[in-house]
Amino acid sequence: MSAKPNRVGKKPPQKYSIFSLAHQAMQKHTGWQAAWRSPEPQAEYDVIIVGGGGHGLATAYYLAKETNVGRIAVLEKGWLAGGNTARNTTIIRSNYLCDESAKLYGHAHQLWEGLSQDINYNVMFSPRGVLMLSHNVHDQQVAARHFHALHLNGIESHLLGPEEIQEKVPLLNMHGRYPVLGGLYQPRAGNAHHNALAWGYARAADQMGVDIIENCGVTGFMIKNGVVKGVKTVKGVIRASKVGVVAAGHSSVLAEMAGFKMPLESMPLQAFVSEPVKPCFNTVVMSNSVHVYMSQSDKGELVIGAGSDNYVSYTQRGSFDLTDCTISPLIELYPFVSRLRMLRQWAGIVDITKDRSPIITKTPIENLYFNCGWGTGGFKATPGSGHVFAHSIAAGEMHKIAVPFGMDRFTTGALINEAAAVMH
Ligand SMILES: Cc1cc2nc3c(=O)[nH]c(=O)nc-3n(C[C@H](O)[C@H](O)[C@H](O)COP(=O)(O)OP(=O)(O)OC[C@H]3O[C@@H](n4cnc5c(N)ncnc54)[C@H](O)[C@@H]3O)c2cc1C
Repeated sequence: MSAKPNRVGKKPPQKYSIFSLAHQAMQKHTGWQAAWRSPEPQAEYDVIIVGGGGHGLATAYYLAKETNVGRIAVLEKGWLAGGNTARNTTIIRSNYLCDESAKLYGHAHQLWEGLSQDINYNVMFSPRGVLMLSHNVHDQQVAARHFHALHLNGIESHLLGPEEIQEKVPLLNMHGRYPVLGGLYQPRAGNAHHNALAWGYARAADQMGVDIIENCGVTGFMIKNGVVKGVKTVKGVIRASKVGVVAAGHSSVLAEMAGFKMPLESMPLQAFVSEPVKPCFNTVVMSNSVHVYMSQSDKGELVIGAGSDNYVSYTQRGSFDLTDCTISPLIELYPFVSRLRMLRQWAGIVDITKDRSPIITKTPIENLYFNCGWGTGGFKATPGSGHVFAHSIAAGEMHKIAVPFGMDRFTTGALINEAAAVMH
């Protein structure tokens, strides 16, 4: 690998701190550097990452920081983190059922806890707790199973009864059409700011010389004798020794460009935010059996998430029947929401696997790696996903946490079945 480049722009990168804020305030804020450059692509890189969402940017950051890879570029077809990273409802938790998932999401959760300091950018990680409600006997059995599995994996969680839940969430209707029988609570879970995560990783990666190139869609791969040699883009051909694809809902489209199939279905997943109100909802509450979850943003908006559409589509809107299926139980569970105006509704295209676990993998093409299949729940995994993917690409061997998540599991049958866990 070639020597690591320095940040082009010569000035040493600024550190964000109370002192730099005070210093800049005295200069009427005229001395701030751009958070990242907008370079033109070079002819060749050691590693190209396709997709400038949170996962792609995190991968580039850890490649630059922790490996000996020199020239790195992130190619993004639109604007930085304008895909699912910008569209998600930012829930962070690590209470997954399977051992493999516990390791992966647990690794990510640990990285979240020190991330603002690591990348010198406030990602607003707020461990306010995540509560998953049980509305029937099946939900209660699933919660108990999770509780015991999490305990075995050393992940703290608590089974709560109706009284404790009502105390935590006074605005919850406990006795309506969806009675609340109990819940599973992870106190270390919570949320963070989606843009801050992407911008923080972008800035930190840029400071270490990573070229982040927006409006640079990849249209094909250069492949010779089964080995990837670079990518074709709307800005021309760019050569690379290795290519990592992190393109969420468009991963199967990119796999097809490389000549193989990725076992994914792409579907819209929608969300809403209400007008801002005073603080009234200080934890994240999920109702998986009715596919509704809600939290309150720092600005006061209620952030509401739905289930994914039932059919494959690339429209970033979400279907009306799913909107209806979300709002009806939402109002049953939280009657006060019926009096709020909704500010926005939108959707992102999520890449769903049959076992609801991600794919972090080598591919039939040598030196071409894919990281996808995060479906409805990849934001929480961003630091861990980027970290293990970066080390896998640099070493040419999958990181030990990533090994079980290879695409070959769909032929060997070694699935990591979070689909059966019904807590995704
Ligand atoms: C409504 C909604 C709510 C969600 N809520 C949560 C949640 O609460 N918690 C959670 O953990 N997860 C959640 N998710 C899932 C989460 O958003 C994703 O799993 C995660 O953000 C994926 O990150 P990414 O970087 O892989 O994808 P993205 O941010 O989508 O980045 C992929 C990038 O690849 C780019 N790209 C695609 N094709 C090309 C190409 N040909 N060339 C170059 N670039 C290309 C895209 O433009 C995009 O910017 C939610 C998703 C949605 C849609």
